[in-house]
Amino acid sequence: MNENPIRVRVPESSAAFLNGTGLVGAMDAQGLSASRVPAGCNPLLDGLLSEAPAAWSDELELVTLTPGETLTPAGASPTHIVFPMGGLISLLVRSGPAANAEVEVAMVGRHDLVGAAALLGAEPSAHRAVVQVGGSAYRAPAASVRRLIETVPAIRSLLLRYVRMSLEEAYQLAACNSRHSLEKRLCRWLLQAHQRLESDTLPFTHDHIAQMLGVRRASVTVALHIIEGERLIRSTRGRVDLLDRARLQMAACECCGAIAHNRRSFSFGPAEAADRGAPACVPC
Ligand SMILES: [Zn+2]
Repeated sequence: MNENPIRVRVPESSAAFLNGTGLVGAMDAQGLSASRVPAGCNPLLDGLLSEAPAAWSDELELVTLTPGETLTPAGASPTHIVFPMGGLISLLVRSGPAANAEVEVAMVGRHDLVGAAALLGAEPSAHRAVVQVGGSAYRAPAASVRRLIETVPAIRSLLLRYVRMSLEEAYQLAACNSRHSLEKRLCRWLLQAHQRLESDTLPFTHDHIAQMLGVRRASVTVALHIIEGERLIRSTRGRVDLLDRARLQMAACECCGAIAHNRRSFSFGPAEAADRGAPACVPC
């Protein structure tokens, strides 16, 4: 994997770091001081760094995303823009006073960023961003990224196109939630999780999936049993294995294809990203 020739500050707390599949290593101080931003891990960060002044890289900080960690609380403006390099983050909106009343409105992986609302201003955001599957990420102060947006037109275009893409995705999911059956939505959700984690093994319980989809656990269990009966998945305690993704896509609602088409219609990262090993997989 090639690298952007840019040094970054790495906090002591990031001496151990995670990728999308788990703990992969520990970096000693010498290793940290030589750290560079790996290209191809997050196309938005690639694109931003290809246009930003070299000195701006001092704003970047390598961080570990810990499962259960809240990156952005609801009712606050994101303090940082986070560029995941692995793992999965959910954007949750509270739909009532109950403890389990948060519903997932977006799923963020390494093709995305966390804190999109802060790109538009410092006003509070209504959603909470919480890490579901751990990984590593680079982050930069939101105010610093906003200054880049104001001074570098190419970065403004890049990040606003991402915001536009995210809005289109949210519109599609709003339609999905009001029109499509739980089974089809569940297939779509599993495919989205697969594409962000780039794994056929998804570490989720029925409870978790039910909360993300905003339905009862019993309903998710029944829906999982139905698609398991079709041999599309295998569901065991705290884990769902995708057995036949092609047929799972056929079983999902058309929103999965619509979201994938939407994502393909926006291109992020520098033009040479494909030549540097950027993945061909475009998440839905
Ligand atoms: Zn749908």
